[in-house]
Amino acid sequence: MDDEHDWALETLGIRTGHRRTGEGEHSEPIFATSSFVFRNAAEAAARFGGESEGNIYSRFTNPTVAAFERRLAALEGGECCVATASGMSAILATCMGLLEQGDHIVSSRSIFGSTTVLFNKYLSRFGITTRYADLTDLADWERQITPNTKLLFVETPSNPLTELGDIRALADLAHARGCLLVVDNCFCTPALQRPLALGADIVIHSATKYLDGQGRAVGGAVVGDRKRVGEEVFGVLRTAGPTMSPFAAWIFLKGLETLNLRMQAHSKNAHVLATWLSKQAGVSHVYYPGLADHPQHDLAKIQQTDFGGVVAFEVAGGRETAWRLIDATRMLSITANLGDTKTTITHPATTTHGRLSAEDREAVGIGEGLLRVAVGLESVDDIKADLARGL
Ligand SMILES: *Cc1c(COP(=O)(O)O)cnc(C)c1O
Repeated sequence: MDDEHDWALETLGIRTGHRRTGEGEHSEPIFATSSFVFRNAAEAAARFGGESEGNIYSRFTNPTVAAFERRLAALEGGECCVATASGMSAILATCMGLLEQGDHIVSSRSIFGSTTVLFNKYLSRFGITTRYADLTDLADWERQITPNTKLLFVETPSNPLTELGDIRALADLAHARGCLLVVDNCFCTPALQRPLALGADIVIHSATKYLDGQGRAVGGAVVGDRKRVGEEVFGVLRTAGPTMSPFAAWIFLKGLETLNLRMQAHSKNAHVLATWLSKQAGVSHVYYPGLADHPQHDLAKIQQTDFGGVVAFEVAGGRETAWRLIDATRMLSITANLGDTKTTITHPATTTHGRLSAEDREAVGIGEGLLRVAVGLESVDDIKADLARGL
């Protein structure tokens, strides 16, 4: 990174990554090409043989994708970043690159639904098993670790209840037991939380969410050290192929330029909305790390620079009341996506967490009266007014 590591986050998001071509372009170009040409046969042979650096084929490397990778690596403070076709392929490539048959994962219980299916249904077929721990209970993590555990996987804050895992404590535990700590940093992004600086080994992103920030493209990334990410995870990507397209990389690259500002604005709106919701008669509980009554409010203040854009709340009256509130909105988008300028509302028990049994949902605290709002960048007064229709 040369002189770049002295720069503040705002500057890193705007100024890193791009290597200007001879055309003198100011904005980053899209290299829409599947392959690259060589000056002569000897150069082709040297590239393929690994003796000379350079592009060969866009499944391996592409300049637009590489610019996004360098910029995200700079923001996360990692040596290396590998971009992927989606957040899920980032998790898959990490597991395929770093694990083998017989290895074991301990994961927090409340993770993204498809991640649970990937672990339980697919990785298990290849002899990689997973046990789940209570995100907030370090002793439980310790209990779930076996001699074969290689990887601790955590998402913090959790979806939808915004519980926090203590990244530094989990990193210490992982390292004491010879494991790696992998953090899915989708909810906070490096603008609010930098897991590598707290001791984590690998950071995963669904770029689909806040890195894009406007709901335009699907993508993901893995950030970490040169050996594990730059060689092992990259090796899976270039061989198996779930790489990021140059078009998508360009969208995310430009998204990173406004990431810091957007995350501050999402957090500000969410904080105001959470405070307002907690005063509404029909609302029995609000889950937001920025509220003083959140059980990990103090940890959130240390681990994050702000509290993020996701707010969950409970209404009395269960599913009927929750659905009525959703259906009364006119502006909010009824969708499970998040990380968009547009505010979204969802009923976790019948959508994102609908595949869980009623008992499992109960165990993770997702009741029929729970609603999740991923607060966007509209005026918070308009968001309040839209929710007030059904409250
Ligand atoms: C959306 C999401 C993913 C999966 O990302 P895709 O880009 O949809 O594949 C993984 N983790 C979290 C926390 C997510 O929100």
